[in-house]
This record gives sequence, C-alpha cells and structure tokens, in this order.
Amino acid sequence: MDENLAATLKAAVHERLDYLDHLAVDGDEPSRAALAETEITRLTSAWRVLLDLHAPDEHGRCPHCSSWRRPRRHPCSVWTTAHQHLISADGPSAHRTGRHADAAGRSTVAVLGAS
Ligand SMILES: [Zn+2]
Repeated sequence: MDENLAATLKAAVHERLDYLDHLAVDGDEPSRAALAETEITRLTSAWRVLLDLHAPDEHGRCPHCSSWRRPRRHPCSVWTTAHQHLISADGPSAHRTGRHADAAGRSTVAVLGAS
C-alpha cells in the first residue's frame, strides 16, 4: 500500500470513528437507536475478524504479531486491548494498551488474569 492510500485509509477510519463518537455522545434519541442497531453489529464483526487474525497458532503464538526475531505469545496486544476495552470493569484507557504496564504497575496479562 502506498503512502497516499495508507494516509487516506487512516483518515477515513478516524473520521468514521469520530462521527460515531459524536453520534453516541451528542446524537438525539433516534440517531442513537439507529446507531445501536447498525453500528454495534459492524463493530462486533470487525472485532471478531481482527481477533481471528490474531488467534494463536499451534505453538501458542500470534501469527500476525510474531516474527522469527520476535515470537509473541498469545494473548498479543490485540487480544489484551480487546479485553481492556470490552471486558475490564474500569473501561479503556488510552495509556494502558498492549503489553505495557498499566497505571497500577500490573502487566496486561496480569490484568487479564485478574478478571
Ligand atoms: Zn497479534
């Protein structure tokens, strides 16, 4: 993918996410009802596709996040991010994604085990 196409794709996705955030926060009741009917299904489908792409292989590694130099054990950052945003009681945090420690100093894997 060339740089222009990548930038266009990135901008389009961010614009869509901004639009959905705007509708969810500032939309009237019919708009939010329509949002729930259409966009939640689209977002859950997108998460399922992404999680399938990052499912562990027969060695327990993420085939997308691993390389011959950097094997990544499951769960990779995609799965830990999904858990943080979809499952964790305290919700998502922009600074607590991936394999990095969260604000309490626990690793994401430790957070996964705590639920
Ligand atoms: Zn992965």
